[in-house]
Amino acid sequence: MNLNLSTKREFFLYGTVAILFILSLTAHFIISNLTPQNPVAEIYENGVLIGIYGLENELVNLNLDDRFEVQNGKIRVSYANCPDKICVNTGFIPNGIIPIICIPNKLEIRITSGLNSNNSAELDAIVK
Ligand SMILES: [Zn+2]
Repeated sequence: MNLNLSTKREFFLYGTVAILFILSLTAHFIISNLTPQNPVAEIYENGVLIGIYGLENELVNLNLDDRFEVQNGKIRVSYANCPDKICVNTGFIPNGIIPIICIPNKLEIRITSGLNSNNSAELDAIVK
């Protein structure tokens, strides 16, 4: 009876350690993907990629009513003609965790790794 209980405890302990280990590996993988090297801003309209910009430039000018501003590796929407201005109020985004989305204008700005954009696209395809 005592032996059985301690075996259960050991099993629980090792199981917990194993789960924590897997979780930390997953977190490491996600974080290293979200802080891309050589980051670029990808700008989508209607889900179609219309521009890729390195984050060293000062201003991004597309044939859009929206204006984008790049500063210190971050990008923001500085002006938009949409009614809700959620995209403008999102402010600067420094990484790929949160994209800027403008629902009325069907715009999305994402930061991804310029070097590994092909790899991550493949990875996404595999994950899906
Ligand atoms: Zn907007």
